[in-house]
Amino acid sequence: MNKVYIALGTNIEPRFNHLQEALRRLQEHKKISILKQSSIYETAPVGYTNQADFLNMVIQAETDCTPIELLDYCQQIEKELGRRRTIRFGPRTIDLDILLYNQENIKMERLTIPHPRMHERAFVLVPLNEIAPNTVLPLTMENKCVVDAIKELSGNDLKDVEIWTKKESVEE
Ligand code: AMP
Repeated sequence: MNKVYIALGTNIEPRFNHLQEALRRLQEHKKISILKQSSIYETAPVGYTNQADFLNMVIQAETDCTPIELLDYCQQIEKELGRRRTIRFGPRTIDLDILLYNQENIKMERLTIPHPRMHERAFVLVPLNEIAPNTVLPLTMENKCVVDAIKELSGNDLKDVEIWTKKESVEE
């Protein structure tokens, strides 16, 4: 069994439903078991900032899928939930990023693990820290553990990542 971390993000309503639906689809795959889920965080957009706030979370899962099989399945979920790739880093129904696959460093045309931007993204590291603070980000990330990687983020980055709780009337 391989231990993997996957980041989920959405900024198109109904955001909560998109997260739930993506989790359900991951869980229903016979080779994937979700072991841990972070809280859901509401985060300000990074990069292309003229768009709505995101909901983000990270899960830990066990899988018999190869990295590419896992990527294919994540992309199938993105497609089925109606993600349209219009603006890079722009609005999305659901985005699934494979952060870590065991402690492997993988570089293929379609797949880089650890996810190349994860160490600079508060919306990834804060939820990951909640479920895996001592996990080491392997070689390409200088073998830092998550809790130490977070210390390198600015207070400005961190202030835009807050735990979100469901408000029935807004999200349904
Ligand atoms: P994005 O629009 O940010 O979701 O990027 C999607 C593209 O990133 C796809 O073409 C993937 O093949 C590629 N990609 C590279 N590494 C990863 C990874 N670790 N997890 C998910 N997608 C990845």
